This record gives sequence, C-alpha cells and structure tokens, in this order.
Amino acid sequence: MDLPRYDLHCHSTMSDGSLSPEDLVQRAEARGLEVLALTDHDTIEGVYKLQELRSDLHFISGAEFTCAWNRRILHIVGLGFDSEAAELRQYFARLSELRKSRAEKIAAQLIKMGLPDLLEDAAAQSGGGSIGRPHFARAMVARKVVSNEQQAFKKYLGVGKKGDVKMEWPSLEEAVSVIRSASGIAVLAHPTKYKMTFTKIREAIADFVAVGGEGIEISYPGVTPDHQFHLIRIAKDNGLLISAGSDFHSPGQGWTDIGKYPPLKSEENHILSRLLN
Ligand code: AMP
Ligand code: MN
Ligand code: MN
Ligand code: MN
Repeated sequence: MDLPRYDLHCHSTMSDGSLSPEDLVQRAEARGLEVLALTDHDTIEGVYKLQELRSDLHFISGAEFTCAWNRRILHIVGLGFDSEAAELRQYFARLSELRKSRAEKIAAQLIKMGLPDLLEDAAAQSGGGSIGRPHFARAMVARKVVSNEQQAFKKYLGVGKKGDVKMEWPSLEEAVSVIRSASGIAVLAHPTKYKMTFTKIREAIADFVAVGGEGIEISYPGVTPDHQFHLIRIAKDNGLLISAGSDFHSPGQGWTDIGKYPPLKSEENHILSRLLN
C-alpha cells in the first residue's frame, strides 16, 4: 500500500498543545497532510471538535494515555477507537478528575518550595482542557519565576522534582484494555523517551503485548537511525504494527512541526493498513 502523508501523534489546546484543534488542522492541511490523528493527553475533547469540522483531511480518533508500569510512567497512543464508547468516556472523566486533584497537589508542593500559588494560573493556561505540568511551567514563565519552560521542568516539575507528584495513574493494562474495549489499537508512544535501556523497553513491550498492545512508534522527533533499527527489530519480534508521529505541541518548538519526523526505514506492517481499510 502506498501510504498517504500522515501524522499519528500530536497535541492541541485540549491538552498541552498551543494550537486549537481547528488551527492544528489548518496547519496540517497547509503542510500537505492527508491523514491526522489528534492525540491529546488523556482527553478526546479535541477529537469531538474535529468531528464537527469540514476538512479534506482524513481524521483518525486518538488520545495519548498516561499510565503506570512498574513504577514508571508510560504513554500509550490509542488510535481508531469509537469515541462514543461509554467505557472510554467514563475513563476520561476519571482522568480529568485525577488531573485536577494532581494539579492541586502540584500547586501545594510548589508553595512548599517558596513559589506563589500557581493553581489558578495553571488552570487558566490549560484553558479548561486536560491540565498538566506544562501548564504550571507556562504559569511560572508568565510570572517570571523561571525564564523558560525547560527550566521549570529542570527545577520544579521534571522527574524526581517536588512538582512531579506521585499519582495513581491507571495501569498499563487498564489503558490498553479501555482502548481495546472501544475497538481501538494501542500503540506504545516514543519508546526511547523513557530513559529505559533497550532491555527494559523489551520488558515493557512484552507486558504491553501480554495485555493486548498491538503497535509501537518507530519514528518521532529525536529518534536516531540506530534507535529506529532496534525498534523495527522489536516490532518484528513481537508482531507489532508500526506507527509514527511528530508529537507536535507548538509552532514555538522549532525542531519539529506537524507531519515532521525522521523517514521510516521500513513500512512493513504499518498501522495505517489496519486503520484505513
Ligand atoms: P504531564 O502529562 O502533566 O505529566 O506532562 C507531560 C508533558 O510535559 C509531556 O507530554 C511534555 O509535553 C512535557 N514535558 C515533559 N518533560 C518535559 C521537559 N523536560 N521539558 C519540557 N516539557 C516537558
Ligand atoms: Mn505533552
Ligand atoms: Mn508522550
Ligand atoms: Mn505526545
């Protein structure tokens, strides 16, 4: 199959992206994309917005599910699910509450570190969408607590920092199960971005496959040709579909854009052959 131009991983203002779903679609069209999955963190509010749009783009329903595996956080991209499925709706309602209570905890931790109460600022930054650490980072930049978002993560919000509060995220199994219950395909997002060795990645994949995971991203910004070689190998060994996406958040990230990711070294078992038929 000749693949269309696609992006199967990106964010809008419904989570921590800076473009509205509508503006994101415009940008995708301008860059010549034909297939797009909006994959906001733990919400499908943007997916509903796309369903109301007129566009020549082919939309695939999507979301990036935050979940826990062996005391680590993994991101699972769910694609091609029925966005009306009751289980999925309940799941995201629960995640919305979880993220709200997490935001309160993050704000309280930051106060302990001597920062002002940033809860309202962060909520305002989130625009009522799914709230996350990047919104706290932006609130800090706006208040000149730090000079940029990177610094906010480095000092306050990144792994191991006080603002990275421990949460009872859904398990890997729960995330994969809810995607499958809504007839979607679960894909492990950006496997080399978790600071895991390839041995650990293989362990994670084995558990992921055991609970019904079916795909793996092999191309995204920052993946090296060597990484991709390993990931393709892992995909083959586990009979996984391959996927790719830009993880685009904002036009301000000069190093990536919607539809932009390293060329695929293999298109065998591409997830689009399942999603587009
Ligand atoms: P959350 O879902 O609230 O845990 O936030 C995770 C998001 O924060 C990721 O999807 C990235 O967009 C962003 N992020 C994570 N780490 C960093 C970092 N070191 N610098 C900038 N942004 C980051
Ligand atoms: Mn993000
Ligand atoms: Mn992610
Ligand atoms: Mn993402």
